[in-house]
Amino acid sequence: MSGPEMKSPVKTGYARPLDLKQGRVDLSHGGGGRAMTQLISDLFARHLGNEYLAQGNDGTCLPQGNGRLVVSTDSHVVSPLFFPGGDIGGLSVHGTVNDVAVMGATPLYLTAGFILEEGFPLSDLARIVMSMARAANEAGVKLVAGDTKVVEHGKGDGVFITTTGIGFLPDGVHLSGDLARPGDALLVSGSLGDHGMAIMSKRENLSFDAPILSDTASLNGLTAAMLASGAAIRVMRDPTRGGLAATINEIARQSGVGVHLEEAAIPVKPEVEAACELLGLDPLNIANEGKLIAICAAEDADKLLAAMRAHPQGRQSAIIGKVVADSNGFVQMKTRFGGRRMVDWLSGEQLPRIC
Ligand code: MG
Repeated sequence: MSGPEMKSPVKTGYARPLDLKQGRVDLSHGGGGRAMTQLISDLFARHLGNEYLAQGNDGTCLPQGNGRLVVSTDSHVVSPLFFPGGDIGGLSVHGTVNDVAVMGATPLYLTAGFILEEGFPLSDLARIVMSMARAANEAGVKLVAGDTKVVEHGKGDGVFITTTGIGFLPDGVHLSGDLARPGDALLVSGSLGDHGMAIMSKRENLSFDAPILSDTASLNGLTAAMLASGAAIRVMRDPTRGGLAATINEIARQSGVGVHLEEAAIPVKPEVEAACELLGLDPLNIANEGKLIAICAAEDADKLLAAMRAHPQGRQSAIIGKVVADSNGFVQMKTRFGGRRMVDWLSGEQLPRIC
């Protein structure tokens, strides 16, 4: 639903102002009455409002765009809600914007569903909403519909946010996980494991000389620059949950090919490497929220790499491997010591609530 519950300030005659310093979410904020209207107008619409949200109907009418629609949806349950380098608000925008952007589309609109736990401080909710607003502005997307629900104390964990992203895919752009071909080059836009290890080191109270910050960011500027380079890109994907290992295995399976990775070429920050070692984790399995991988025709790899490195979010880009013929879909890695090992999916859930 959208509309009435999220439209810009409504005069209700409700006198008590929303106490964003000391107040807490209570069940009335999800009750469909004045308290909910006030929460929406004084907080959500105040920071996230725009001409679409202001339509105030049960659904939002959007103009037709050029090209095919791309839609993606994602629920965010990250714990802790505030982590080094970001928070659930920004993350809920970045994650969905990136899923639309790596399709080659221009993300334009977002919807957001909030599940709030009774007792959650309104000051924290305000921080989260402002972080979403900042992320949406940076990415050039507008929140066009939203919903809030409140669950009883103990039945949630502060805040969960589900976002849906809508973008338009220009004619002639066709990226898909089943288009990788033997000989193609595999590129990554920067260091791996930053987001997951920022969360893990906060949870485990680890501290390092250089603090690990999440890489959470919208990548639609980078993807636009990559598409503009004219390189024959087959696949783009953001290696989030499951990390690079899961993403590359997915693509290998979809395309019916193998992939050979070069460990020495894969960028991993020393502090992330150290944290992984301490916790017995492999950086290739760790979630990223501001990185992407691309597979392109071998002859275009240098052109694509140059375009990526020219963008602020792609300075550390590298060619990290190649696609090979292999009907088993195996992903293998040449290690720094010259050996070869299989890079497999994780079995089970190693890192819960990472995004
Ligand atoms: Mg994705």
